Amino acid sequence: MHEIGIMSSAMDSVLAQARANSASRVHRIVLRIGTLSGVDPDALRFAFDVVAQGTPAEGASLEIETVQARARCPDCDLEFGVASGFIFTCPKCERLCSELRQGRELELARIEIS
Ligand SMILES: [Zn+2]
Repeated sequence: MHEIGIMSSAMDSVLAQARANSASRVHRIVLRIGTLSGVDPDALRFAFDVVAQGTPAEGASLEIETVQARARCPDCDLEFGVASGFIFTCPKCERLCSELRQGRELELARIEIS
């Protein structure tokens, strides 16, 4: 389960920010996860409980913002939503494209500490 590794590096930066601000508690963590990032939000929640244990982030609420994947057609410039895969077909001109505008996000959006 690679979510443990992902969560523990996210937790490293959360705790570093808390330390830098002399905060003793982390209240809220918001992650942005693209639908094509390959990360399972449920596994991420589980990983969070594991890696937060015994840290100032234990008991913090974890929010996951999902970013719907969208591709852009290089020919007609149309942006369209995609559900899965690596190659997408433009619904307008049927050209195949692989350029995602968004959907592979895997980032810390914001945290609340005190
Ligand atoms: Zn097109």
